[in-house]
Amino acid sequence: MPASLLQVSDLVAKVKRYNPGANEDLLRRAYRYAAAAHDGQTRKSGDPYFVHPASVASLIADLKLDVPSICAGLLHDCVEDTEVTVGEVEKEFSKEIAFLVDGVTKLGKIPWNTREERQAENFRKMLLAMARDIRVILIKLADRTDNMRTLQYMSQDGQDRIARETMDIYAPLANRLGIYWLRAELEDLAFQYLYPNEQAQLKDALAASDRERRRYIKSVERILRRVMDENEILCEVSGRSKNLWGIYNKMRKGNRTLDQIHDIVAFRVITDNIRDCYAALGVVHERFTPVPGRFKDYVAMPKPNGYQSLHTSLIGPEGERMEVQIRTHEMHRVADEGIAAHWVYKEGQSVIAAADQQKFHWLRQLVEFHRDLKDPAEFIDAVKIDLFADEVYVFTPKGDVKAFPRGATPVDMAFSIHTEVGSHCAGAKVNGLIVPLRYKLKNGDVVEIITNPNQKPNKDWLKFVTTARARSKIRHHIRGEQREKGRTLGRELLEREFKKAGKSLSKAQKSGGLARAASELRLGGNKEEDLLMQVGFGKVTAAQVIRSVFPEIAEAEKQAELEEQQGVKRPGRISQLIQRVTRRNPSGIRVQGEGDVLVRFAHCCNPLPGDAIVGFITRGRGVTVHKIDCSKALDLDPERRIDVAWDSGSKTDHPVAINVHTTDQPGILAEISKTFAEQGVNISQAECRVSGERATNTFHFRVGHLNDLKQVMRALQRVKGVYNVERVMG
Ligand code: MN
Repeated sequence: MPASLLQVSDLVAKVKRYNPGANEDLLRRAYRYAAAAHDGQTRKSGDPYFVHPASVASLIADLKLDVPSICAGLLHDCVEDTEVTVGEVEKEFSKEIAFLVDGVTKLGKIPWNTREERQAENFRKMLLAMARDIRVILIKLADRTDNMRTLQYMSQDGQDRIARETMDIYAPLANRLGIYWLRAELEDLAFQYLYPNEQAQLKDALAASDRERRRYIKSVERILRRVMDENEILCEVSGRSKNLWGIYNKMRKGNRTLDQIHDIVAFRVITDNIRDCYAALGVVHERFTPVPGRFKDYVAMPKPNGYQSLHTSLIGPEGERMEVQIRTHEMHRVADEGIAAHWVYKEGQSVIAAADQQKFHWLRQLVEFHRDLKDPAEFIDAVKIDLFADEVYVFTPKGDVKAFPRGATPVDMAFSIHTEVGSHCAGAKVNGLIVPLRYKLKNGDVVEIITNPNQKPNKDWLKFVTTARARSKIRHHIRGEQREKGRTLGRELLEREFKKAGKSLSKAQKSGGLARAASELRLGGNKEEDLLMQVGFGKVTAAQVIRSVFPEIAEAEKQAELEEQQGVKRPGRISQLIQRVTRRNPSGIRVQGEGDVLVRFAHCCNPLPGDAIVGFITRGRGVTVHKIDCSKALDLDPERRIDVAWDSGSKTDHPVAINVHTTDQPGILAEISKTFAEQGVNISQAECRVSGERATNTFHFRVGHLNDLKQVMRALQRVKGVYNVERVMG
């Protein structure tokens, strides 16, 4: 049967019925333009191609969308199937219409090819997120509906694929948007192609009981009308069958056969106001016995998509179970039209009524709170899709859809797959191209993670990962690594101090002395290992450990102290040792967040508080601190690198050297030393080299902070005859 082409005058009339101020000229222009672009093309059915976009436009008018949406419906296949470009649509019509056409074209290119239900929800969200405007989704729904209506001309494969996608993705989307008539049609059309035998059987069975069902509906309607009349409740009463797929599903889930004609009928009572809804409920509950546990008050607590109604099940006049839905006319309109019920037309432009915007705001929040609901099918998406603006949806190479917070990177994805994948994530391919690890995933990206067994989590990753999981796994790894470094450092410090005391660390370890010391020093956990770490981080000093392992040394120490108090000078080996190792480290450095670590400052770069610094575990010397840009530090083994920071409370002075380049004129050195004195700085050493007209003076002194040094240098710059001041490195 050839489809008939919707004439432009009919389309205009249809739009003007709900939007009297619609721009008729624009509609006619879009119609003519699309008809011309598709001229000569035919559909598989043999009809002219333009029949399809015209039907889509008509469906969009059924959804009561605005004029740009209807124009986009007329033009929606132009970019994909004709010579027309998005740019031309924009030039010819408007940015808005071009945006809608482009959106629909793009959505059509995302393939849905997995069959897993859990994936479907993410896929639907991805479509919503990519659409960016709910109108794009609605146009796409209209497009899909017309395609489903004409699916018989497709190949078997095409039918299966499109019907599956419709059932999994588009029907639930229509449901989510509250457009129940569209959902029912899409489901029933898909049902026919996905389960042709079951569908035919059910249809036959329903046809066989059709007369009986009509009689039943009429009789219940009569009773309901009568009792409402008796109670003076103004209302409309109607009964009707559910859609085929709904019935089939109900039978399948309840494992039932179609022996009850009643199960598939729902009755509606539509009242003028909310008070009458509850009055009507009282009346039906009085007249029929309610089935316990089947009453739902969606009036007081609307569904997230805005649906409101009272639902109840009763024992009907023939002893059957009977469903009754009670709502007001306004609620009925929302239930019927879904999101379109919230459109308001002003001067031909659609706007969302202020009251409804509030409603959408509330819905948005609900979505936020219920993101982890088991059945997310009842989400609603507002007119502007900023609902999912904070999420991004990507494909795995197998076609699974994964959701991430916006800004997520391949590293986040890798950790979501498995900790091992994350830990060894060395790179990623997005849509076949290598991207940096910090690449921000985009909707619809196909992401393949590249792993390398030698790769490991890096502190820098924390700067760009967005998921809590990746963050905590990376931190966990770094913490483990730091502990390991702390143990290495602790072992080295102890080895050195043990050796100096003429003892062997490994012997102390074997004899259990170290373990004993650990328990004596009250360390929890894995004792010996923890002891090493605590020494490494400076929480326990090597001297404490030595005293604990060798009580005789502690004894000798006491003795030495006593003798010292009594004025006996005996600078023995042990007291020297004790003095050295018990000295609290005054470096003002925190190693991995811990103070009191044995630290020394590298002489190559002489770091100052305020300088960016880095530490290296040095065999036998604790941690050596370099300036981060020190050329020597760059050559050191990165494995021994350790995080260090200045302790803000530090008041220690540090040695620095500066070169002051001057002209070689008399009196200038006196001027310079006066400036040092004014800055409160004592020069500890000075050298002067003259070459020709110029002199280079090197001064060594101590300052507490980089800022102090800078101040000194600035003051020197101002001295007449000084043309450059620089800090000496290395
Ligand atoms: Mn199309």
